[in-house]
Amino acid sequence: MTDMRNRNFLLIFVGCMIIYFSCGTKPEKKGWFYKKNSIQILLLGNVEDKAVWEVKDMIATQFHPDTILLTHAPLPDSCITTIKTKRYRADKLLRYLTTRKDKSATKLIALTEQDISVTKYGEKGKIKSPTYKYADWGIMGLAYRGGGVCIVSCFRLQSEDKKLFYQRLRKVSMHELGHNYGNPHCSDKTCVMTDAVERISTVDGAQEWFCEKCEKKI
Ligand SMILES: [Zn+2]
Ligand SMILES: [Zn+2]
Repeated sequence: MTDMRNRNFLLIFVGCMIIYFSCGTKPEKKGWFYKKNSIQILLLGNVEDKAVWEVKDMIATQFHPDTILLTHAPLPDSCITTIKTKRYRADKLLRYLTTRKDKSATKLIALTEQDISVTKYGEKGKIKSPTYKYADWGIMGLAYRGGGVCIVSCFRLQSEDKKLFYQRLRKVSMHELGHNYGNPHCSDKTCVMTDAVERISTVDGAQEWFCEKCEKKI
């Protein structure tokens, strides 16, 4: 009788331990304690609702954050350049974005409908040739590897085919956030981390996925 009771007690105890361990929060791969992963989407000026939802859905599916925070901010005049047409300097915008990042956010992705640009440098730190072309070069997005903020512009992704535009927007957003999570450009041309090499066709040629190697960093 005593034996049976002891055995029942042991079974209940073991059962409780199994339930306890299976319900416990899994520690994140990088540390022993679970770290929250929160991604902030910042809309710079007006951005079409559907475009925002497409990016939000992509983030939920590809990056699995605990929360997605949606915020708004104006485009700062201090980032305007008129070297060619009126554009916003992407490198200056990234600095501005760090001031707009919520304390709770792990990463911030900004979306804008305005055209953004950088100066492209070649060897020896000189502006890439031809200078008139690269002094103010329009881009689709910008992020520093391992940084906390990135920016994506809808301007160069537009197409009469709306589905294609949303697909490009999702891919470029994935790509820039992928840089923030530490990924460099990938040699796999089908991976979303492939270098666009200044062509929208490269973006269209890539798939909406991270290859196995790039996926590991997310
Ligand atoms: Zn890139
Ligand atoms: Zn890859």
